[in-house]
Amino acid sequence: MKCEKCENKAIIGNPILCSEHFEEYILKTVQDTITQFNLFTKETKICVAVSGGKDSLALIDILIRLGYSVEGLFVNEGISNYREYSNEDLEKFMRKNKLLLRTTSFQDLVGHSLDEIMNTEKFHACSVCGTLRRYLLNKFSKEYDVIATGHNLDDEAQTVLINLARGNTDLMFRGGPKSKPTNQFTQKVKPLIFVSEKQLLTYAIIRKIKTGFEECPYAQTSYRAHLRDLLNEEESKNPSTKLNILKSYLNLEKNIIKCDVKEKELCVCSVCGEASQEGICKACKLKEEIINLLH
Ligand code: SF4
Repeated sequence: MKCEKCENKAIIGNPILCSEHFEEYILKTVQDTITQFNLFTKETKICVAVSGGKDSLALIDILIRLGYSVEGLFVNEGISNYREYSNEDLEKFMRKNKLLLRTTSFQDLVGHSLDEIMNTEKFHACSVCGTLRRYLLNKFSKEYDVIATGHNLDDEAQTVLINLARGNTDLMFRGGPKSKPTNQFTQKVKPLIFVSEKQLLTYAIIRKIKTGFEECPYAQTSYRAHLRDLLNEEESKNPSTKLNILKSYLNLEKNIIKCDVKEKELCVCSVCGEASQEGICKACKLKEEIINLLH
């Protein structure tokens, strides 16, 4: 199959492009997303939430090539036979690109790794992981203007369906390319939401970004993994399914915001002093539960 733009052999089928034109396409897609949704400028202080996986490393690579200055923040959940390898890849990548990398961990926050917490058999891995990770990312990104994450088109389409399927209407409109700016939470931005998982994997291979490509061992137990498989099957029969889900979401979001839905009021957590929707924040409640079970 030939590239749509030149005589060279295509390396990907959607869009049908050779390696050189595919790289151009990815850079343009990400720059267009940044511009269209006004995510940040060349002057913005950007922190990238990095895991060492292909998405966050590809995000840094793309942002550097587009001329943005970034630093990295890594949260080590403590997942054995997985995170230590991606951590190694991450440190090498950041050293090679002379970028600052800050590190924090679940161990620092609650005194235990995710693996130890899961040994209690009392929690669901992704919900503990999500709560503690969000908390740490916000706590350690205060000096930045925005925190950029490597969420891609597949992640976003899955999130829309998860919220719909679970009736999470209050979480429904917290997705999209950027969160609302508040004094308490660093604004989150997602420059990769129009790039699919497969495109990011191809980009990481072309750019020789060294990463394991393995999946988190807890991922298979998640509802997200189930929806991911369903969506992949649907996409193979009806290409653009994921893009259509994201576009429908963004159209709905625009109209909902016009209706001015009231956000829950924020207060300060009486334990840690971070922003919270209740007197004690979710992370502190979870920390107490974990400590009681493991001591
Ligand atoms: Fe955390 Fe679940 Fe993602 Fe693993 S799959 S890193 S446990 S959110």
